[in-house]
Amino acid sequence: MFFERQVKDFINIDPLQTGGKLSEDAKKVLLEWGDGYSICDYCTGKLEEITKPPVNRFVEELKEFFECDEVRFTTGAREGKFAVMHALSRANPDKKYVVVDSNAHYSTLLAAERAGLNVIEVENSGYPEYRINEEKYREILESRNDVLLAVLTYPDGNYGNLPDAKKVSEACRGEDVPLLLNCAYSAGRMPISMVELGADFIVASGHKSMASAGPVGVLGFSKDYTKIVARWSKYRKGKEVEFLGCTARGVPLLTLMASFDHVKERIKRWDQEVEKARWFAEEMEKLGIKQLGEKPHNHDLMFFESEILYEISRKVKRGRYFLYKELKKKRIHGIKPGLTKHFKLSTYLVPKDDLRIVLNAFEEIIEAYKV
Ligand SMILES: *Cc1c(COP(=O)(O)O)cnc(C)c1O
Repeated sequence: MFFERQVKDFINIDPLQTGGKLSEDAKKVLLEWGDGYSICDYCTGKLEEITKPPVNRFVEELKEFFECDEVRFTTGAREGKFAVMHALSRANPDKKYVVVDSNAHYSTLLAAERAGLNVIEVENSGYPEYRINEEKYREILESRNDVLLAVLTYPDGNYGNLPDAKKVSEACRGEDVPLLLNCAYSAGRMPISMVELGADFIVASGHKSMASAGPVGVLGFSKDYTKIVARWSKYRKGKEVEFLGCTARGVPLLTLMASFDHVKERIKRWDQEVEKARWFAEEMEKLGIKQLGEKPHNHDLMFFESEILYEISRKVKRGRYFLYKELKKKRIHGIKPGLTKHFKLSTYLVPKDDLRIVLNAFEEIIEAYKV
């Protein structure tokens, strides 16, 4: 059975996909290392210590890259969050709450739930910017002593808002509550330093933002938590319980490694990516499509609101699927089928000329259907 990918040569503005496109090196590695367990050829018992291919060297580079003491691979950002929550919870059985921002990804809530923890949400400012009020973290943490962990989504996956992580980390430090930064949408796109942001844990997603096939993630943490998060099994020495002994054992990790040079280069151009995103948002607004979330925006992931397209969808034969179908005809992929009034997209690494094509497409569609 062979499946062809329908959107292969399309302009891709799918926020899930723009940061996970493979580098040329990663494409080669995909074939070479595709066989199951190929990474285990020379393994002596621990994934992070494999020398052929040089996973151990890669671990050291990642520690520098994220400025953290420890690195473990996971199968994604969510597994990193769960490992941390579960380990901390076991070490502090009296603390049953995780404080998270209300723009958090669903997987943060599920990780807490699976670890047997309850969630307290820090509210956002609501329409139209949905900003997280960093001060609220302080208020909540000051008012209770049963908080195990604070989590900040940096940025969130809906509006692409980048809250002030330093403000939150200062509040956490003051109350002795560790902070996990969910960098699924930032690590690999923009520079991220755990030290500078003041976090105790960061999670990254290889398939979301580090040009990898995945599923693969990176968990970075401070050595203060090594004994808790990376504790050894009592049955098998050297095997770490929270990671079930081994995690991303195969080609997903190889693509992450192969793309790392590319990732290190591309984060240097983050300012240009932000500038391009802002330009795109302005052009969309000229068409009457409003950008919600922080303004001016600080990330390539953007959320839009369009009354015009919604009004059209109520009148046309295909209903709310018309936009998806029209964009598909124009070979543009990334707006979810059925959405017209609210949708998100990403301009990350999409050439400006392609974005002009996207803008023209929106303009033409509005013109063609307008009554
Ligand atoms: C995509 C996303 C995730 C999930 O990442 P995985 O690596 O697939 O687990 C988590 N958090 C945010 C904010 C995301 O956007």
